[in-house]
Amino acid sequence: MPEQLVPMICQKCESGRILSMISICYKEFFVDINGHKYEGHVLDGIGIGGGDYVRFDYCLECGQIQGKFPLAKTDFEEGKLPGPNGVLPPAPALDSNFLKSLIG
Ligand SMILES: [Zn+2]
Repeated sequence: MPEQLVPMICQKCESGRILSMISICYKEFFVDINGHKYEGHVLDGIGIGGGDYVRFDYCLECGQIQGKFPLAKTDFEEGKLPGPNGVLPPAPALDSNFLKSLIG
């Protein structure tokens, strides 16, 4: 039996203009939360996927990312995320030119 698609409605403005996106993001994920910088796999617990995927739904009308908020505070926000060797990964150089080079 094929899965039936249920149209999503924005949890904030009730618009039906919901964009659902998923992107494979193998080890090239950069994030900065309150000055804590991270590069690597997509972090779990921040509401946009995890592992090798960035995935979220957002409203094209009001910009609300769909989901349950507030999210629980992550260890990463406290600067506690261990890397493979138990240390924080080196912070990437996050600047606009670097980000532009990623997207062409
Ligand atoms: Zn909305």
